[in-house]
Amino acid sequence: MLSLSDLEEARITGEKVNYYFICKRKLWLFDRGIQLEGSSEKVSLGKLLHDTAYPRDTRKEVLIDNLIAIDIISGGNVREVKYSRKMEEADRWQLYYYLFYLEQLGIRKKGVINYPRQKKREFIELTDAIKTRLIEILKEIREILSLPKPPPAEKLPYCTKCAYYTFCFSG
Ligand code: SF4
Repeated sequence: MLSLSDLEEARITGEKVNYYFICKRKLWLFDRGIQLEGSSEKVSLGKLLHDTAYPRDTRKEVLIDNLIAIDIISGGNVREVKYSRKMEEADRWQLYYYLFYLEQLGIRKKGVINYPRQKKREFIELTDAIKTRLIEILKEIREILSLPKPPPAEKLPYCTKCAYYTFCFSG
């Protein structure tokens, strides 16, 4: 069983759990501080949306262990706001991770993912099966992060939109 100190030591953030589902190479590069995401217009739009999409909601930003940044909204749910639904699976596991991390601290919460541009939202909850799978995922993330070199670049459908595209495929 992974402990909180294991998660802290591996510096596993929600973004890293998200990247695990998108691309293992991206996860490794991001972890090593090669952070080109700031140059991505879509990421900037996502951040703007996160800050402005629901002006009437009461929302509290919480940073836990200098590692996990979450939004608690009225009703006590943990909320993630996403720009598009293209990476729903990654979004879901990122939020499961936040709920799991909180549960390790003795705090049980439910999650909600908002897609304001599509006017959709999805409620999620931790189950035993999800926790078991999440622990496997976190172990796999730790293994990837301990590799001396990044996993090889593989052409994925969304590579051309990725901030690391030039880095991966500039020849
Ligand atoms: S360009 Fe493709 S292979 Fe490279 S990090 Fe991004 S998603 Fe992964």
